[in-house]
Amino acid sequence: MMFDLKNVSFSYEETEREPEYEKRGKKINIDETLIPSKVFAVENLNFTIKKGEFVAIVGRNGSGKSTCAKLLNGLLLPENGTVIVDSFDTKNSEFIWEIRSRVGMVFQNPDNQIIGTTVEEDVAFGPENLGVPYFEMVERVNSAIETVGLSDHKSREPHLLSGGQKQRVAIAGILAMKPKCIVLDEATAMLDPIGRREVIKVITKLNKEHNITVVLITHHMDEVAKAQRAILIDKGKMVFDGTPGELFSHREEVYEAGLETPQVSQLFYLLNKEEGFNLPEDTIDVDTACARLEALLKGDNHVH
Ligand code: ADP
Ligand code: MG
Repeated sequence: MMFDLKNVSFSYEETEREPEYEKRGKKINIDETLIPSKVFAVENLNFTIKKGEFVAIVGRNGSGKSTCAKLLNGLLLPENGTVIVDSFDTKNSEFIWEIRSRVGMVFQNPDNQIIGTTVEEDVAFGPENLGVPYFEMVERVNSAIETVGLSDHKSREPHLLSGGQKQRVAIAGILAMKPKCIVLDEATAMLDPIGRREVIKVITKLNKEHNITVVLITHHMDEVAKAQRAILIDKGKMVFDGTPGELFSHREEVYEAGLETPQVSQLFYLLNKEEGFNLPEDTIDVDTACARLEALLKGDNHVH
């Protein structure tokens, strides 16, 4: 098991209420109902992620996705419950390096993640810190850069690269540490469509060919279609866990959680509703949509 979350809750520190009545040394009556109850950023999360899975986590702004991501590699510790990463409890500080080297994080802003003055140097930073011997390090760096398709840019200054290339440098930096899992927290949010496609292609390859567990936090619904599983979070709680196809056939729940369905799902929904077709509403990616429409046009009734 890559991750095992049991009854996990977390709240950010609130400003302490001034205990006026205690200061004055006398007790006054307080209407308890006026005291705001504690707000959890994530509340009672229960899920497991197996090794090699590709899971998308979606939810509106402020729903608790980033908090959840940081709980997955011990950047935050649960207030209640436990987070087990590859058999290590994040609460046990002895294991923090075991956990950090297993779970790499890619964040939203590519410019905040690059430290090296060349691509190579940047990718070497992680393994260097782990004390990897020189020759092995060189090999790891070259292989990681090749995997993300940046071999021609090895000696370039990272700040001259596009956003998508920078995020791939960040991914290569993680790969050089031989992780078991990569968590991407809205890592494509600041990229143009080409950059987004590059990053998604690379992580799909890492998952399929290198068996790396991927947790993709995104608000681009078309990216969710690439995952095997989708978890929907709303107001800190998990409200759906299933395949992306199942998620988007629960239209109401998706819209209620402040999200939209992918464009092809919307098209199929409208074709069914307005034009009386009976197309499968779990159609979420363009290739499947095209195949199903083609079959329909050919008069084939078996559009599945
Ligand atoms: P998301 O990534 O889905 O936008 P977050 O996990 O960032 O959600 O936030 C969940 C909730 O926690 C929000 O209500 C947010 O305002 C609050 N929150 C996030 N970070 C902090 C912080 N550093 N201090 C206080 N509150 C925070
Ligand atoms: Mg966030």
